[in-house]
Formats: sequence, C-alpha cells, structure tokens
Amino acid sequence: ADFGYRKVPEEEKEKLVHGVFSSVASKYDEMNDAMSLGIHRLWKKYLIEKLDCGMRPNAAEPLQFLDVAGGTGDIAFGLLDHAREKFGDNVSKMTVADINADMLKEGERRCLATPYANSPRINFIVQNGEKLEAIPDNSVDVYTVAFGIRNFTNIQAGLDAAYRVLKPGGIFACLEFSQVQDPVLDYIYQLYSFSCLPMMGQFIADDRESYQYLVESIRKFPNQEKFAGMVRKAGFYVPGKGYDNLTFGVAAIHVGVKL
Ligand code: SAM
Repeated sequence: ADFGYRKVPEEEKEKLVHGVFSSVASKYDEMNDAMSLGIHRLWKKYLIEKLDCGMRPNAAEPLQFLDVAGGTGDIAFGLLDHAREKFGDNVSKMTVADINADMLKEGERRCLATPYANSPRINFIVQNGEKLEAIPDNSVDVYTVAFGIRNFTNIQAGLDAAYRVLKPGGIFACLEFSQVQDPVLDYIYQLYSFSCLPMMGQFIADDRESYQYLVESIRKFPNQEKFAGMVRKAGFYVPGKGYDNLTFGVAAIHVGVKL
C-alpha cells in the first residue's frame, strides 16, 4: 500500500524543504516529538554515547566537530556536553552548519542557555550540506548529520562533501529515519505516518503540508543497505554491515571512517 504517497519533483524539493523548516523552526521540538513519539531524544542520546567523542587526556589537539543540518543544535550541544562530562574536554570545537538561517537562529537562541553561550568554541554557519563550501578539505574529526540528509536534493553529493571535509581517520555518523524491517510493524507504522501524522501537523502547527512532506521524505529515503552502499561509494570504510537499527528500523545510525 502506498497510502497516498506523492513524489516531490527534484526542482521543487529545495524550496519546499526551506519552507518546511522556516515555518516550523520554533515549533521544532513538538514536531520531532510527534514524528517519533518522543523517541528521537533517546536516539540522539544513543548516537552521542555510541560515538563517545572527546579529547583524551594524552591527545595533542582538540577535536573539530561538524554537525551538518544541525538546525536547533541538539546534537551539537549533546556532543560537547558528552566530551566535557566524560573526558573533561573544555576545548574541542563545534561548527553547526544548516542551509536554513531560521533554524540556525533558533539554535543560536538555544545556545544561550548552554555552557557554550558566546563561546568561540561553537559557531553557526549557513551552508548547503551538499557542498560545505566554507569548510576546508581534511579539517574535521567528527561529522554528524541527524534527520537532515534525507532533505538534501543530492544525497550522494552530501556524502562526498562529508568525505572531503573529514581528516583521514575522521568519523562520519548519520542518524536518519529508515525502513522498519518487519512487514507487519511496517504496515502499522505506515498507517500511523500517512493518516495520523498529517492530522497531528494540522493540529500542532496548523501546517498539514509540512508534515505530509516529512512523511513522504522518510518513505522515499534509501533503506539501510542502500544507504550503507552510498556511504561506501563516497569512499568511506564502513565497519560491519554499516548500520545500527533503532526501534525496529524506524531510524538507523550509519557510520563510516575516512581511511
Ligand atoms: N539535526 C537537527 C535535529 O536532529 O534536531 C535538525 C534536523 S531537521 C529535521 C532537518 C534540518 O536539515 C533542517 O534544519 C534543514 O534546514 C536542514 N537541511 C535541509 N537541507 C539541507 C541542506 N541541503 N544542507 C544543510 N542543511 C539542510
């Protein structure tokens, strides 16, 4: 069953994505909570703990993080918190890059309530993740992208850009909605996505269209295996099968290493 799935033409996608995130920037948490029934917070925590980043006591240099499609800064603040709490790392640096200035503004606003407020350790820049023009080659230790890459018009270009900016030995990690593996659970999940979610969107944000788009973008995104293949194609070494399923595959984490 396709539950009314409508394909978004490529040329419409960038404009649509921009509209979606500008219109939801301040209601972003409610939307994420609705999409994932609040579970996105646990997935993000899992990603941060899995990566276990932070400058080790005998390391020569601080880490350079890059969180792409970082929007409201959840992952960025979480990674810096983990580095500080677990490794006493108060020096590593974070760049939050997003194509949408409204989302970044929301991130900067939230940053004021963190220990990184007005710190030179964190900067927010408008960047298209498909190009990352302001980020030099071989300059990043840890690249993260959470619930962002499926909105890229050209996903492979995004992966190629990630490979370019990472240092040799650098880590790529992507948290994204994926494909529920069990067919029965998938049927229930599709039913929820295509009927309940747009209705919730209408209710929470008075914005049925944006939610509709998000549901469609999840459906269209390559499944776990296919996406792992794209990560390999960008040049990364992909350990094991290349991904971890979260909540039956509703989301997945893909990891790659630039050798
Ligand atoms: N990473 C954040 C999180 O997990 O809470 C925000 C995720 S939000 C669902 C998706 C973000 O992707 C939006 O902020 C949007 O502006 C950004 N985005 C979409 N296309 C992009 C692109 N080509 N380059 C960079 N960011 C993009």
